[in-house]
Amino acid sequence: MTTTLIIGAGGVGRVVAHKCFLNKEIFGRIILASRTLSKCQTIANELNQKIEIASVDADITENIIDLIKKYNADIVINVALPYQDLTIMDACIATKTNYLDTANYEHPDVAKFEYKLQWQRDEAFKKAGIMGLLGSGFDPGATNVFCAYAQKHYFDTIHSIDILDCNGGDHGYAFATNFNPEINLREVSANGRYWEDGKWIETKPMEIKMVWDYPQVGKKDSYLLYHEEMESLVRHIKGLKRIRFFMTFGQSYLTHMQVLQNVGMLGIEPVEYNGCKVIPIEFLKKLLPDPATLGYRTKGKTNIGIVATGYKDNQKKRIYIYQVKDHEECYKEVKAQGVSYTTGVPAMIGAKLMLQGTWSGSGVFNMEEFDPDPFMQQMNAQGLPWHIQELPVDE
Ligand code: NDP
Repeated sequence: MTTTLIIGAGGVGRVVAHKCFLNKEIFGRIILASRTLSKCQTIANELNQKIEIASVDADITENIIDLIKKYNADIVINVALPYQDLTIMDACIATKTNYLDTANYEHPDVAKFEYKLQWQRDEAFKKAGIMGLLGSGFDPGATNVFCAYAQKHYFDTIHSIDILDCNGGDHGYAFATNFNPEINLREVSANGRYWEDGKWIETKPMEIKMVWDYPQVGKKDSYLLYHEEMESLVRHIKGLKRIRFFMTFGQSYLTHMQVLQNVGMLGIEPVEYNGCKVIPIEFLKKLLPDPATLGYRTKGKTNIGIVATGYKDNQKKRIYIYQVKDHEECYKEVKAQGVSYTTGVPAMIGAKLMLQGTWSGSGVFNMEEFDPDPFMQQMNAQGLPWHIQELPVDE
């Protein structure tokens, strides 16, 4: 029987556990491991104790090796934090176990999103004869697959891609983040960056804004950010001249963030306080609502998609592929809000395609390197139905 090891019992881990269990004919024996065992226990209770649980400190490779060996896992689904990507990948290399994650590695002391250190493990994955699938969430994840789908079915060449991420949900708090606050705030407060004519162009945080009319959500201010999937898409979508990423933020969120930044609460350097070393953003995380608890109070919809422009048979074309998800519907199904849901379901789908051998290979891969069709079909079947719309080319 297949054995699936999920590491991380936060908002996303909950969705992955629920969805793997719903597909248990593929995932077999399911073990949910995390730093805090009680969080695993709560999720196991939701599933009537039909999954097993374990505690692990995934910052230490040896611990993960022991855990993988104990359960003889066939795949590790890493939905802990990006800080643990390398230790978990190294444990997978040592034990020859397949690996999947949803966010690229970050060092806790350097707010830098890049695939370099994960791509460097390609050779070791090849030697071990195992597969690593990087960024199998929504963005990165489904958005990479949307690009591959557009390339396969709609274009000879894609010239430009805009990735458009809208969370139109409201949790009723003055300020909260919808996934891990530390990771979210580091990402949003960093300089923006986009790629044009072969080079990266840096912008100040929130410097570039546009208004986009998101189907089923409405018009929203959308700000240019750097986002990790651009790094791999630039490599793999041939002929691309420009790629940008936009995310929606309400004015209240931006004002709170600006104030927190101005007073130093987003800092990642330790500050001496009463003889203790305090990292401001870690302390802030303690004060903010845990994203895993936002589910029951979040209303509204997410809409994430891509707009691709290019040529087919010498005709200019512009298409929009997007997915809309209702927060309350997600909570009803798996006790999680939409952002955890739209991340956890693609993680489960990526792992399912790996276990079935539909997506296979030795080495480290990004999502757009595989045939997008089976993933797109699974999105429709597993709760993330998508839409395609042709847009006027002169917009
Ligand atoms: P949470 O903070 O809710 O959950 C993270 C979980 O990982 C917690 O249970 C935490 O344990 C556990 N964890 C942290 N450090 C360790 C460690 N050293 N050893 C073992 N377990 C550990 O985060 P989310 O669920 O919101 O996000 C999970 C991942 O998904 C993140 O990497 C995030 O960046 C990614 N993500 C990806 C998206 C995408 O579309 N691609 C979108 C949103 C998120 P404890 O409870 O003890 O702290």
